Amino acid sequence: MQTLQPTDEMKKTDTKSVFVHTFGCQMNKADSENMLGLLNEIGYTETFDQKDADLMILNTCAIREGAEDKVYSWLGAWNKIKKKRPGTLIAVGGCVAQDEGQKLVERAPYVDIVFGTHNLFRLPELVMQAQETRKHVVEVFTELPEDLPELPVIRQNDFSAWVNVIYGCDYNCTYCIVPYVRGRERSRTPAELLKDIRELGDAGYKEVTLLGQNVTAYGHDLDPKIHLGNLIEMVGEVEQIKRIRFLTGHPRDLTADIIESVKRTPTACEYFHIPVQSGDDRTLRRMARGYTTDFYRRQVDEIRSRIPSASLTSDLIVGFPGETEEEFLNTVRLVEELAFDSCNTAAYSPRPHTPSKSWGEQVPEDIKFERLRLLNTVVSEVSHRINKRLLGQTLELLVEGVSQRVETRLTGRTRTNKLVNFEGSKDLIGKFVNVKVEAANPWALRGTLTTGDTN
Ligand code: SF4
Repeated sequence: MQTLQPTDEMKKTDTKSVFVHTFGCQMNKADSENMLGLLNEIGYTETFDQKDADLMILNTCAIREGAEDKVYSWLGAWNKIKKKRPGTLIAVGGCVAQDEGQKLVERAPYVDIVFGTHNLFRLPELVMQAQETRKHVVEVFTELPEDLPELPVIRQNDFSAWVNVIYGCDYNCTYCIVPYVRGRERSRTPAELLKDIRELGDAGYKEVTLLGQNVTAYGHDLDPKIHLGNLIEMVGEVEQIKRIRFLTGHPRDLTADIIESVKRTPTACEYFHIPVQSGDDRTLRRMARGYTTDFYRRQVDEIRSRIPSASLTSDLIVGFPGETEEEFLNTVRLVEELAFDSCNTAAYSPRPHTPSKSWGEQVPEDIKFERLRLLNTVVSEVSHRINKRLLGQTLELLVEGVSQRVETRLTGRTRTNKLVNFEGSKDLIGKFVNVKVEAANPWALRGTLTTGDTN
């Protein structure tokens, strides 16, 4: 990859401020960090007060229905700010921008810049152009360029970093808009990734999360081919990085070799997020997921027999078109049978450019939400049961910050991705500590600090 060099013309001497609001997944959050890095090179620093911003960016997500409505409602509020501060620029990026393109400025003419998921690296030029011309700048690439520039980044913290290792997805699940807005799979080379990760280690980072829409497919498009497990083992050699995570996998691409690499690499966290989506074979077939529930069961066996301490989480959709009550109950049964540590659940929502959008047999909203309510109850019960087993155990956490609910309380994560709250001083943020677990609910644990800063 070539490094993007801002021209002198692009580098500004006066400092401007940018406010970024991000919808969606970790990939989007990582993109926002790149936006901040790119804009910093032309003199923008981040502000957390949108009313002060010279540039406001909405980084959008198109996964759920209502995403566009949410985007236009945010933009409407920003238009009011812009009226009070003429000259403020409004930019929209991410999946909705990739999909809507020109339509966005037709519907919201006060938007200055629209950029897609494949040309994020062009953001400084687009902002400069909008600043100078005060005309709409709409640029959306249909695919990632061959020689993708290395992107600067400003990270949200200085101990844990997201690292994109593969872009796009080659699957075509019948409900999913991701292949349309993110394109086909493209892996970054191990050399490039290791350079970035070594730099993170030198800068004091302790944890990296290897990201991809389908991270388990990493490396199949490289020459020579490698797999995610090879990459994990290579990252395991970077001495300063104490924890390696990876998100999000596809069950079909999770091989025994990858699981073995996780087991062999002391710093690889024993945590697997492997979306099953449904516990019913007919529904899985109609979703075009490419596996059966038995195949998924065998994958779970493979993980648990090789790494018994592993935690396992999943994604589940209820109310897929044509899903019967019995088929929905198969999902509930699978959650109980496989005892997931936790699950992200969602009611099916039809997305543009997806086959299932126009299928008949759409499940009525009230039934979808009743199914979601029941599934959430079961998911919580199972999670609670599993979390209660940790009572009395002392666990190592990487402290992430202050708890959102109680200011004196800190929050950290175990290797198995359990959230744990405890009383402690803020100087422990970014450090490893040991905490004895004293209470458990379905979503988190609470405990007492036993050893501060185990580094
Ligand atoms: S594997 Fe995931 S990202 Fe790819 S099409 Fe299916 S749901 Fe979408």
